[in-house]
Amino acid sequence: MTERELIAFFEDIHAHPELGFEERRTTAKVLEVLNAHGVTVLSSGLETGVIAQVGKGETDRVIGLRCDMDALPIQEESNLPYASLHAGKMHACGHDFHTSCMLQTALLLKARESEIHGLVKIVFQPAEEIANGAKRVLATGLLQNVREFYGIHSYPWFPVGTLGIKEGPVMAAPDRFVIRLLGKGAHGAEPHHGIDPIVALGALIQSTQTIVSRTLDPFSPALVSITHVEAGNTWNVIPECAIAEGTVRTLNSEDRAHIEASLRRIANGVAEAHGCTAEFEWHEGSPAVINDPSLCAEARALALEMGFQAERQENTMGGEDFSEYLQYCPGVFIRVGTGGAYASHHPKFTVDPAALQPAAKFFAELAIRRVNA
Ligand SMILES: [Zn+2]
Ligand SMILES: [Zn+2]
Repeated sequence: MTERELIAFFEDIHAHPELGFEERRTTAKVLEVLNAHGVTVLSSGLETGVIAQVGKGETDRVIGLRCDMDALPIQEESNLPYASLHAGKMHACGHDFHTSCMLQTALLLKARESEIHGLVKIVFQPAEEIANGAKRVLATGLLQNVREFYGIHSYPWFPVGTLGIKEGPVMAAPDRFVIRLLGKGAHGAEPHHGIDPIVALGALIQSTQTIVSRTLDPFSPALVSITHVEAGNTWNVIPECAIAEGTVRTLNSEDRAHIEASLRRIANGVAEAHGCTAEFEWHEGSPAVINDPSLCAEARALALEMGFQAERQENTMGGEDFSEYLQYCPGVFIRVGTGGAYASHHPKFTVDPAALQPAAKFFAELAIRRVNA
């Protein structure tokens, strides 16, 4: 695609956001362009999402590139001329940018196929925001021989022309927990005939905040947030049950296991202290994203050689299921500066399409160098 065609493709995808596992139109549009340019599409059996391949034959030199395609349930307020046409849905995380960029990367690789002594597999992943698209893509079994994976994410806090490449942990494991404290209902005026789970809930909320502050190494970033509490429904009844739900964010598996165990201990201990019983649910999200140091050094050197600024971006405690691919091989999650004024997931989030073509060229060059390395 020319740069103009690329930007038109991006605007079209932006205008037609689709939520996780509903990316049928986006998938069809990607396939249309890949087919028109003779890029091989692997038969993955995925209902939404695409795995394309460029290069030669079966080989042990396989590099993976990954982008995501899904949008968010947000009402867009960007006022862009190509703003979302789907009420209540918006590409507020730049996955339209990622899809367009990696599509162009695939075409650039196809045009240079004779230089590729191995294979590049380009993954257009569904359902990143609901955090199980990567697992579904991996379950196709088509990525088993990939030896390095590279992921893309737009980054509004860097200008166009800057890439964020940082070794080590860059995104957190986003786990979810639910604690139910079970007491005994009673008249609001007769607490001695019941067991009040709301008082226990108050103690529980306070106690959970001691896990990070008092039991973890201060140099090891982690957090526990209780984001949802619920108990009772009127003023003169002590309810049976009180609920606290929230999220834990960690950057390594030791802290993750420690916080889970601590939450269980506190839930049971606080419940017992108040005469209640506790039920504990733990819903494990994707692991932390941990970039390989030597591959980061290579990618940063290439970025500088190609005229980009290369920054070590700040970590975020957000989650990203790109980490699922890194359970099987090393890789790097690379942030592309897209120069906006609003954070991702904000209804006014925008990306500058001028970042598309340079980023596509970077990922094509990176893939060729790494496959031939
Ligand atoms: Zn997002
Ligand atoms: Zn995202």
